[in-house]
Amino acid sequence: MNIHEYQGKQILKSFGVNVQEGIVADTPEQAVEAAKQLKIDYNSDWVVIKAQIHAGGRGKGGGVKLAKNLDEVKQRATDIIGMQLVTPQTGPEGKLVSKILVAQDVYYPGASETKEFYISVLLDRAAGRNIIMYSTEGGMDIEEVAEHTPHLIFKEEIDPKVGLQGFQARKIAFNLGVSGGAFKEMVKFVTALYKAYEATDSSMFEINPVLKTSDDKVIAVDAKVNLDENALFRHADYAAMRDVTEEDPMEVEASASNLNFVNLDGNVGCMVNGAGLAMATMDIIKLAGGEPANFLDVGGTANAQTVKAAFNIILKDPNVKAILINIFGGIVRCDRVAQGVIDAYQEIGNIPVPIICRLQGTNAEEAKKLIDESGLQVYSAIALKEAADLVTKVLAEEA
Ligand code: GDP
Ligand code: MN
Repeated sequence: MNIHEYQGKQILKSFGVNVQEGIVADTPEQAVEAAKQLKIDYNSDWVVIKAQIHAGGRGKGGGVKLAKNLDEVKQRATDIIGMQLVTPQTGPEGKLVSKILVAQDVYYPGASETKEFYISVLLDRAAGRNIIMYSTEGGMDIEEVAEHTPHLIFKEEIDPKVGLQGFQARKIAFNLGVSGGAFKEMVKFVTALYKAYEATDSSMFEINPVLKTSDDKVIAVDAKVNLDENALFRHADYAAMRDVTEEDPMEVEASASNLNFVNLDGNVGCMVNGAGLAMATMDIIKLAGGEPANFLDVGGTANAQTVKAAFNIILKDPNVKAILINIFGGIVRCDRVAQGVIDAYQEIGNIPVPIICRLQGTNAEEAKKLIDESGLQVYSAIALKEAADLVTKVLAEEA
């Protein structure tokens, strides 16, 4: 689950990671009050106004703006709140900004130079371990750094038995080229960041940029945090940070019905039990000349209720030209699923696209018989190839 920058910074701060301080605001008036408060708390004359959306590259898209006085705060806040912010990560339609973070300007002049770094903590699936990935080339697109100057990206593997060791944190600070007070600050920063990542059950913490200020503090200017959804049950406070307006509405509805659903842009809706079978089904749809419109795993206990919820979600997608139901009845009996399909169909009423129903496993024959005798517009199949050919046939008829 992704969260906003301001929420990520709250979490970081609670683990002792220094952050660029800020106050979240919904209106220009609140933004002005926030700027006044920051002046009292942190003596910051200038502030930055930062759009809060679940996507990076906001600076490039005009979602991060400096304001040098309260009039400018109001002006920038008015411009940014309500804007449809387009960044390299949002897609061309952009994302509506409804909140901003008013933050202290941390790029102030001082005794030494400011310097931007990149630091992230994430799970390296190939290594089977958490790693800290870091670079001297902070502030910019890390994908671009990886492409053009990969030697400037470093990785430190963490042994899960002993956790991040002191020498590793010092090695990171050394490789980033900081010295003196900033070296100590960097070691502290990396140590606290790793602790935060582990304790929150996250799958990614990406801080870009990490800033060494002109007075040698080390702070998180940005925070991209991805919390592992499977662990949210033990972090009620983080679960409450979910912002469903940032998520795909179909996926939100599916998760409310306990369905594993990913929206895609093809024309064949899929309803399947088990993730492996769902992947195989998507392959067979492609082989048959279609494109999957979604990935949908109804789970081990498909009944009329789950089938109906799944139908309703798939049918919201106007691109869907056919629905392929592919259920393997191992624990669940095929005739029960077939009855579920029939009941759901009758409850929903007129389903405007053809349905191909392939039920295999326990009581497959009975299931096919139930479907065939239901009088509904449902094609039944037992073999996968047969189902795929039916998909090809109905798509050709629709075209
Ligand atoms: P992103 O574009 O979505 O990654 O958003 P960031 O939070 O990383 O901000 C984008 C850029 O805005 C940073 O790389 C900085 O260069 C700039 N920025 C952020 N905070 C400040 C600030 O306090 N003062 C100034 N002058 N620039 C800032
Ligand atoms: Mn950033």
